[in-house]
Amino acid sequence: MKFNQLLVLLVGGAFFLAMMSLYRMLEMTQGVKLPHSETPAGPEDNDLSRLKQQIDKLERLLSDNNRLVATLRDSLFSRQASRVKGVAANVSSGSAHSQAVALPGCRLAEEMKDGADGVQLLDVYDLLPFDNPDGGAWKQGFEISYKGDEWDEQPLELILVPHSHNDPGWLKTFENYYQDQTKHILNNMLIKLTEDSRRKMIWAEISYFSKWWNNIDEQKREMVKRLVKAGQLELVTGGWVMADEANSHYFALLDQLIEGHQWIQRHLGVKPSSGWAVDPFGHSPSMAYLLKGAGLSNMVIQRAHYAVKKHFAQQQTLEFLWRQNWDSSPRSDITCHMMPFYSYDVPHTCGPNPAVCCQFDFHRLKGGRASCPWRIAPQPITEQNIKERALLLLDQYRQKSRLFRSPVLFVPLGDDFRFVESSEWDAQFGNYQALFDYFDQHPELHVKARFGTLSDYFGALHRRLNAAGTTLPTLRGDFFTYADRDDHYWSGYFTSRPFYKRLDRTLEATLRYPISPVTQVHSLINDPDFPTSKHFQRLTAGRRNLALFQHHDAVTGTARDPVVVDYGTRLFRSILNLHQVLQSSAHWLLLSDKSQYHHDQSKPFMSLIVFNPTEQLRSSVVSVVVDSPGARVVDAETGRPMTTQISAVWAEPSRASTEHFQLDFVVELPPLSLVVYHVTKASVDSAHRAQYTFHRRGNPPAVQSEHFQVSSPEGPEADAPLSLSNKHLQLRSGLLRRVQVQFLWYGTRTQTEKSGAYLFLPGDKGAQPYSSLDPPLVRVSRGPVFSDITSCFQHFSHTVRLLHLDGHAGRSLEISNTVDIRSEVNRELVMRLVSDVANSNRFYTDLNGFQMQQRRTLSKLPLQANFYPMSSAAFLQDAASRVSLLSAQSQAVASLRPGELEVVLDRRLQQDDNRGLGQGVTDNKLTASLYHLLKSLVNEVGGASVEHLSLLAHLISLSLSHPPMTMVTSSDSQVPKLHRFLPLRSSLPCDVHLLNLRTLEDSQKAESPSQEVALLLHRKGFDCSSTPDVELQCTWSVHEEVEDNTHVIN
Ligand SMILES: [Zn+2]
Repeated sequence: MKFNQLLVLLVGGAFFLAMMSLYRMLEMTQGVKLPHSETPAGPEDNDLSRLKQQIDKLERLLSDNNRLVATLRDSLFSRQASRVKGVAANVSSGSAHSQAVALPGCRLAEEMKDGADGVQLLDVYDLLPFDNPDGGAWKQGFEISYKGDEWDEQPLELILVPHSHNDPGWLKTFENYYQDQTKHILNNMLIKLTEDSRRKMIWAEISYFSKWWNNIDEQKREMVKRLVKAGQLELVTGGWVMADEANSHYFALLDQLIEGHQWIQRHLGVKPSSGWAVDPFGHSPSMAYLLKGAGLSNMVIQRAHYAVKKHFAQQQTLEFLWRQNWDSSPRSDITCHMMPFYSYDVPHTCGPNPAVCCQFDFHRLKGGRASCPWRIAPQPITEQNIKERALLLLDQYRQKSRLFRSPVLFVPLGDDFRFVESSEWDAQFGNYQALFDYFDQHPELHVKARFGTLSDYFGALHRRLNAAGTTLPTLRGDFFTYADRDDHYWSGYFTSRPFYKRLDRTLEATLRYPISPVTQVHSLINDPDFPTSKHFQRLTAGRRNLALFQHHDAVTGTARDPVVVDYGTRLFRSILNLHQVLQSSAHWLLLSDKSQYHHDQSKPFMSLIVFNPTEQLRSSVVSVVVDSPGARVVDAETGRPMTTQISAVWAEPSRASTEHFQLDFVVELPPLSLVVYHVTKASVDSAHRAQYTFHRRGNPPAVQSEHFQVSSPEGPEADAPLSLSNKHLQLRSGLLRRVQVQFLWYGTRTQTEKSGAYLFLPGDKGAQPYSSLDPPLVRVSRGPVFSDITSCFQHFSHTVRLLHLDGHAGRSLEISNTVDIRSEVNRELVMRLVSDVANSNRFYTDLNGFQMQQRRTLSKLPLQANFYPMSSAAFLQDAASRVSLLSAQSQAVASLRPGELEVVLDRRLQQDDNRGLGQGVTDNKLTASLYHLLKSLVNEVGGASVEHLSLLAHLISLSLSHPPMTMVTSSDSQVPKLHRFLPLRSSLPCDVHLLNLRTLEDSQKAESPSQEVALLLHRKGFDCSSTPDVELQCTWSVHEEVEDNTHVIN
């Protein structure tokens, strides 16, 4: 085999431990100094009865709410049910296919038909030529005509919506934007809206709004409330930020929405009703679903492919009911308005001709700082020119109106960081009011115009639609991958700054650990020593930093370098702080005698605590770094020794550390449990030590490793195929059954327009195989807990690992990479999986970890258009099999040829790509990525039109996103007695995910936890066509609807 093409793994121990994930970094900083004697294990009756009562109550509430949760009370019930097919729950059995026909809980193709007016975006993509002809004044569109009498019966009702787009970080940090612009905008808003009750304004970013609120006095707050009540100021979407919709995981999308909505509810007592997403680089139906679920009825989106916009304009489908792919009913529908033109600025919103519309951006009046690039300056409205100006503008409005089905016209008025100075408010509101007054005075023009908010617009729209007895068409699908002009597809940002995309998920996993909310509930802990409020503030700060990072210039990797550092610092600090909260909460929960609790951060509790953050019983491998090659791990409660493996920590690819060792042991963790283990130094033969084999063609490495058995075959033996296997899988020289791994480079174009933070503009040659002058060093490790093969190349190391575990954890192949391309210029590194799956041009990627979306690789589109975001999963499928790649981070993915799936690992680009950032992406870091690869057989059972992950893939994805958390400390003789914490009696059904458990803020006392906790459950769709070929240790639910996904417990 050729090592430069068929790479098999790698990942030096040192790299691995330092970078593989932040968890491990944190463990290293904590380090385990092994005590010499065993810590006394102290199982003792524990009085957690109060907490248990609460959880029992929670379980009862769940049961009451929905029969779904009848299955929650574990296997006793399930065993009965499985005898009666389709009654309440199914239990997987060892026989792989016996239940294929009867799998409940899935929907088939014929149920998904929409009416004649239904739009499926995949069909639109098949239909469109993507030929980009010059449309004249509206370059990407067409000439719009009207007769002039269209509004005689029903006048044009025009609603002009002033807005100011405030990025919470982009060219400047959040803080700097706030100081330089945002606070002035909001201060002036208060004055200028109060001056004239006809004036209106919308505001989206609650991160800014809440910061400003904290800095104004009570009198001003009252003014804000009056403006909101009067409908002059409307908070739209209500999220903490205007979130990215490609890279963000739905946990974070929803959490930032809750954070904003809770703030609004608390301070203003209102609920947002309309969404506003004008700048995210493509749009996801997951966001539409969350907004609908959060009580919104309408939404506005802007950045969709220009060819799709043009098509929708021709079909008058720019306004539609956005329906979920998997939903056969209209319950998830939300009214969506898509802006027709290039941008959300004034030149591209009044009508099709930007040269005309720019003349009505009165911020660009002569002598000001801004001007019109079309070289016709705006004029102030005067008595002399008002007729000519009004008619010129009306012509644009009328043309735009022809693209919609109703005579109500929505026109935004604003741009990035607009309305900073009071003169700008006067210019815009004064001149437009004059024009509106003119329209009023000339009824023969048949136009009524006013300032409005989104609620004003959508209210008028729905009234008109109802009056006409018409409805909007339905639409299914998503708006990726976005192109704003020519072949400029925004698929670069799906991977840009991958280090931070990974960090984002690490904070997310840390925030989701539900033990700390449990301890926030006052009624549970009356111990004055427990720092409840302090912990709550840390939790809130962590949530808000994660929320901030969902901004469409943050997780996207499209901010300036210092801003990226600001975000990264926030994420990292939050992770550290949350670990302290978790440690303290775990301590309290585990103490047999609560009176022994003492809050002392400098002296945390003893032993090794492993927390399972998932709602499933799981077998896992726990990994810690220790200072001895001999170690013993016992279950603190039973004294039972655990299966352990000691591996080398590789300081260099072939030099093992003599001070640090990696200790891995196998644990079986009940759902949401905290389990205590004692780790002690023991004789060197107490744990199985990994055995190593090193391979390097032509040049066997000199290996330094005093504690491990190492062999280094020479001659033909050195080139023999490598193999690994566990009970379920066989791996041979990088082949998992028939899956190979390759690495390749993309370069960028030679023309002036090159790839940057947003855009992927690869060179004509496409991807070139990765090759290096030196043959790779390949290190094979074998042990009782796991075996792996690591290949070390100049720019990356690649490891494939098999866990020797029963259950689902042993059913997939773990792949991890650490990438360092800092020595390169204008290059992007990709990992390509090559399989024998005959998937034709179809493949599937997830949207926000929430749902799967079919993709079609189209040869009529350029290569970069065929890349899509992958937040957590992608798969290829044919009639016989499916290969799923489950991912722990967001990256760009494509399937350019049948059987292939490629993932962009990192990108280093020296230049700006002309979207305003003004710099390249050259702050690359040593970056880790982590995946699980799963190949499964497929049973055709009727051809579902909507594909989901299998139950097994869901479980593996859950484990990947939420690794067990370990809390380790150094030794101390004063070990208090700890008792394991088991909040659930059994796993939840496999398809039910405990998404979040969130302590709510006290309504009376700011920054303090209330007695209320929000519990969010997500019932996941799962694949119909394959039955699990593994015995799953859980049940799944039948086809029943969940009415409500949020509950509050007291
Ligand atoms: Zn923006």
